[in-house]
Amino acid sequence: MAHILVTGGSRGIGAAVVRKFASAGDRVSFTYHTREDAANALARETGALAIRADNASPEEISRAVKVATDVYGGVDILVNNAGISASRLFTDITTEEWREMFAVHVEGAFHYSRSVLPYMIHEKNGNIINISSMWGITGGSCEVHYSAAKAALIGMTRALAKELGPSRIRVNCVAPGVIDTEMNGALSDEDMDALREETPLGRIGTPEEIAETVWFLTTRGADFITGQVISPNGGILI
Ligand code: NDP
Repeated sequence: MAHILVTGGSRGIGAAVVRKFASAGDRVSFTYHTREDAANALARETGALAIRADNASPEEISRAVKVATDVYGGVDILVNNAGISASRLFTDITTEEWREMFAVHVEGAFHYSRSVLPYMIHEKNGNIINISSMWGITGGSCEVHYSAAKAALIGMTRALAKELGPSRIRVNCVAPGVIDTEMNGALSDEDMDALREETPLGRIGTPEEIAETVWFLTTRGADFITGQVISPNGGILI
């Protein structure tokens, strides 16, 4: 059974990924930032290992990977999922907000990937899945810093996939459309209705559907897939 490390596993999409792999019998560790209550409840429910670590802190990331590997051994599957979002006019984005967006999404994925790779390279086996967003593909108005960080993850995925292919490590991106999680909690009912209407399948996606895509990327059926961006989005990007 594989050891899968999920960043930002306490809620939403990350929690669905934790549940999916834990129910399959894998060794699952996950990080969270502030919601200790949610993290502990999920750990009790699934048997997964919860570790507090800020994605914006290289030191906390090193410690988290050490704790996870001490308990479950080297990481076979890394899911860079932790994320934050914010709606701001571009001209209102502060330098701190810009840096935080990149620190959490891009630098976090960089530090986690770098920390788990020596083991994967040694094993000549591994799987890194970065959770981007449809806004990283199309760009989202009033979310320039979020869109730019998510686009950077796509670039990182493609370049890393080329570099790591010879070590038989696959790197892919999942770029979801609109998913029903707390991240979208600030959107009004009218906004959500408009997004549903824009989506050919006529609904918002579920965290479980994104977990299924992540799962697929770890199966034998995906053995020849690397450097790709898969966007489960109900057709909103067609
Ligand atoms: P949620 O807000 O529901 O959950 C976010 C998760 O990330 C939580 O576990 C949270 O931990 C963790 N997190 C946030 N900041 C940090 C940090 N600094 N360090 C460590 N962990 C952190 O979001 P979603 O489940 O919706 O989003 C998951 C990923 O999917 C994100 O990368 C997001 O950008 C992406 N995405 C989401 C979409 C959507 O419509 N929901 C669409 C496209 C992409 P804690 O519980 O402790 O706060």
